[in-house]
Amino acid sequence: METCDSPGGARSETQGGADLNIIDAAELVDGGLESLADFREHEQVLHCRHEASGLSAFIGVHSTELGPSLGGCRMWPYDSEIEALTDVLRLSMAMSFKHAVADNPRGGGKAVIIGDPKTDKSPELLRAFGRFVDSLGGAYITAEDVGTAVEDMHIIREATPHIAGLPVEDGGSGDPSPVTAYGVFCAIQAAVSHTRGNPYNPRAPLADITVALQGLGHVGWCLAGHLHEARAKLIVSDIDDAKAARACEEFGATSVGIGEVFDVEADVFAPCALGGVLNKDTVARLRTPIIAGGANNQLADEEMARMLQVQGILYAPDYVANAGGIINISYEGPDYSLDKALRHAERIGKTLIEIFHVAEREGMTTAAVADRMAMERLGAG
Ligand code: NAD
Repeated sequence: METCDSPGGARSETQGGADLNIIDAAELVDGGLESLADFREHEQVLHCRHEASGLSAFIGVHSTELGPSLGGCRMWPYDSEIEALTDVLRLSMAMSFKHAVADNPRGGGKAVIIGDPKTDKSPELLRAFGRFVDSLGGAYITAEDVGTAVEDMHIIREATPHIAGLPVEDGGSGDPSPVTAYGVFCAIQAAVSHTRGNPYNPRAPLADITVALQGLGHVGWCLAGHLHEARAKLIVSDIDDAKAARACEEFGATSVGIGEVFDVEADVFAPCALGGVLNKDTVARLRTPIIAGGANNQLADEEMARMLQVQGILYAPDYVANAGGIINISYEGPDYSLDKALRHAERIGKTLIEIFHVAEREGMTTAAVADRMAMERLGAG
């Protein structure tokens, strides 16, 4: 038996996911979640429960103004349903902003499954989740995220066609990281050209530029390759010493310790590892006039955007710079073309130039300008 209910108490039951009740955010708030009042603008929020498999999940559809909502499915051992709900509402709204600024014909959506992906995941649970996705009739398209992988998407696909991010051989768009990395490279090009008063050119040489790169994973490694090709100098840092050593060998990089990357003198700091790395302590230490990287949620809090502005550091808002991955997914389909996705990702640089100009003209932070741009586009949609 599948049930779909609100934490406020309203409850409906359904067999096979055929007649799920859709609960809107306002109803959740009226159910006692006053702290979530900011999220009333979500179009739909589903609370999905399937007793037999132990599924407890939320699907948040923030907006379908610009197209069907698209965002990953996260599986995480949240301490409570409220914590999971808060996360899905925040993440799905962030996806709306990201798609809008990237000029992607998609809306903001996200799902979270409560549980430990190592011990609580089962085919039955994933299929049940797929049935809930299916019940939305395409208003939400799911994909991989933290705690879910391609294998899981194959199982979810047994229950719904509304899925994205599968390997190319399965009709998907494959690993998004190369397009993400290229978009970040374009963001760096845009920030460098802006500070030098040059026109944006993603193919400009960067021979006199040093980039401090944190994290040499899927995105960071590919970004390092682009920067090396453009002849930029690299200072790298990764908790995995082997990756750092390989970057020294392949790209002539200099490696520094994980704490040291915030103190090095460079032209650009590119965070490509974790979220929250820009906090009061690290921002005060930075000796780079530009920040442009692939990591999500780089600012520890909103105040950091203002602190960067006051310090004269040009910040390429994270969700603008790292939109290449979702751009890649939006080209998914029988006519998928990596080349088209890369050309679209190049437009990230142009968008950033516009954001930098507006921020200077109006004395706003680049983060605030990006948010305003997203809201305007959502409104226009
Ligand atoms: P990944 O797990 O492949 O790589 C992360 C790398 O960071 C690893 O090499 C890891 O060893 C290193 N690392 C972890 N902690 C570190 C630390 N304290 N200091 C230095 N290095 C550290 O992940 P990824 O796919 O490359 O993603 C990187 C970031 O970009 C994440 O924040 C992710 O959410 C974001 N992002 C990724 C994509 C994508 O297409 N993969 C798209 C958008 C955003």
